[in-house]
Order: sequence, then structure tokens, then C-alpha cells
Amino acid sequence: MTMSYARRYLLYGTVFGLCFPFIASLMDAWLSVGHISFQSILQVQLQNPLLWMIDTAPIFLGLFAYFGGVQYDRLNVSQAQIHNLNKLLEDKNKDLESKVQERTEKLESSVKKLVEANQIRNEIIATVSHELRTPLTAIGGAIKLIKSKTVGDINESGMELIEVADRNANQLNRLIDDILDIEKLEAGELEFDVQNYPVKKLVDKSVAMNQPFAESFDIKLVNDIFDDDVNISIDKRRFLQVMSNLISNACKFSPANSSVIVSIRHFDKIVRISITDSGKGVPKNIAGKIFEKFFQVDSSNVRSRGGTGLGLNISKSLVECMGGIIGFYPNDGQGSVFFIEFEEA
Ligand code: ADP
Repeated sequence: MTMSYARRYLLYGTVFGLCFPFIASLMDAWLSVGHISFQSILQVQLQNPLLWMIDTAPIFLGLFAYFGGVQYDRLNVSQAQIHNLNKLLEDKNKDLESKVQERTEKLESSVKKLVEANQIRNEIIATVSHELRTPLTAIGGAIKLIKSKTVGDINESGMELIEVADRNANQLNRLIDDILDIEKLEAGELEFDVQNYPVKKLVDKSVAMNQPFAESFDIKLVNDIFDDDVNISIDKRRFLQVMSNLISNACKFSPANSSVIVSIRHFDKIVRISITDSGKGVPKNIAGKIFEKFFQVDSSNVRSRGGTGLGLNISKSLVECMGGIIGFYPNDGQGSVFFIEFEEA
């Protein structure tokens, strides 16, 4: 039979604590008075309190032993609980380890599949773009020949149709260029030939390059005067691409006969190039989305204005890859101000 320490010591304590004072009192009475009776016991105990204390001491020893046993029991229970908890913890740890292992394996296989899918996607895009571009170049060449009337005369309605074909072929070309740029940017494969250039010359060139486009929308493209001789460090081709995107957007989204102003400001080693228009502006509620891929505020007028919704997304990536920032804010009167900033080189 197993007995807890508390019970065991309670038993010892009770037996010892109760029996000893009784036997001791009998012996005290017999030794001191010579015979044992209730009176002789009382007489001896009252006359000698020290003897009484010694006789009853085992009761306290018994109690002490009992409480000691209780504490010991508690300790044993706590140790057993700690042991159980430790075991539980070990089991949980093992469980967790196996789950982590399982998930890691799943994740690794998903990453592998994703990398493979990405490779296939890149190959498909590259192939499709190439397959599209080759016939498109031929179509473009044919359109140019017809437009220049090298192959013979063409009447007015024929010319209008050729213009439509030309616009659409150009649009398709731009879309292919944009998709290829995005692919390269996302794969980190776009190479930048960064050099120092005088910002004024770059801006003059972009204004001149976009003048015909502005005229086609009856927009007056104004180049604000800037006389500072300051350089910025950029990839010229990519910088001009960004400028073309911002200027062409400003022209596309402005009313005919309005002006688009291109200006440069230089402050605290920062060079800011701004393109200000007086069009409809960008609605406040979608301002955060404007740099997202394929985002267009109103896709219904794409036909008349042209556009892929990729220009600003590409421009943002290009500017950031060259260490600059791009942004926009509403123009004071009407329209928007799009800007790019670079540190002075
Ligand atoms: P898109 O090829 O359509 O021009 P972008 O990425 O260059 O593509 O521009 C995305 C959209 O942002 C545009 O379709 C237009 O809705 C809006 N946007 C860009 N620039 C302007 C601007 N200057 N004024 C008003 N809206 C603009």
C-alpha cells in the first residue's frame, strides 16, 4: 500500500505525539508520588510545568512532521507536474519540428515550380514579342511606303485608313516595347549606361523630340527658361523615355489649344524637372494607383489618345533605378504637375 508522506507522518505524529505524553505522565506520577492515579498525575503536572512541557513536546513534533510531510507531498506533486509538462513540451517541439520540415519542403517545391513557371513565362513573352515584332516591322514599312505614295497615288479615304493602320501599328510597337521593358525591369536585367549630362540639354532634347506629338494634339509645348549649368547622372536613353512618357501624357490629357510647360528647378543640390498641364487632372481617390501596371483612369478614350497603362509604371521603375524619384500633385489652377528629381552630379 502506498501512502503519501503527509499521511505517513500524520500517523507517526499522532501515535507518537499522543502516546508519549500519556506514558510519560504515568511514569512521572509513579516516580514522583509512588502510585498512579488521576490526582497524582495532575499533581505532578501542575507542580512541575517544565515536565508538562517536555511531556507534550512530542505532540508539536508530530504536528511539525505532519506539515513537513504535506510540503514534501506538494513538492513531489510539483515535480511530477514539471516532469509531465517537460514531456509535453518535448512532444510539442517534435511535432513542430516535423511540421516546419514539412512546410519547408512544400515551400521549396513551390519556389522551384514558380522559378520554372517564370522561366517559361519569360521565354513565351520573348518569343511572342519577337514573333509579333517581325511582321509588325514589315507592316510598318509597307504603311510608310503607301503613305509616301512611292507605290502609287492613293485617294483621301484610302489615306485615312492608312493613318489608322499606322497609329495602330505604332501602338502595338509601343505595347511590345513596354512589355519587354517591364519583363527586364522585373528580372533586374535592364542595363543602365549612367553618365553625367547637363540637365538643360536633356530637357531641350526631350521637348524637341515631343514637339510633333504635342502638335498632333494641338498643344503648345513650352520649354521654360533655365540657365543653370547643372549636371545629373542618368542613362540618357532611359531619361528621354521617361520624359517622353510624361510629356505625351500631359499632351494627351489636356484640352486642345492649351499649354504644357516643361521646367527645371535647382535647389539644395536637387534638380527637379516638372511637366505642368491644364487638363482634367488625376482624381484624388485614385492618385495612389496611377503608377500601377495597366492602370488607366478612363480606358474608354484609349482609342483616340493611345496608351497602354504601362508608361508611368515603367517610368517609376526607370527613375528609381537611376536613383531619382517621381511624383505628381494637382496644378494650382487646373490639371497636374508630374515631376522627376535627381541629385546634382
Ligand atoms: P497610358 O499609356 O495610359 O498613358 P500611363 O501609365 O502613362 O499609361 O498613365 C496611366 C494613366 O494615368 C493614364 O491612362 C491616365 O489615366 C493617367 N494620367 C497620366 N498622366 C496624366 C496627366 N498628366 N493628367 C491626367 N491623367 C494622367
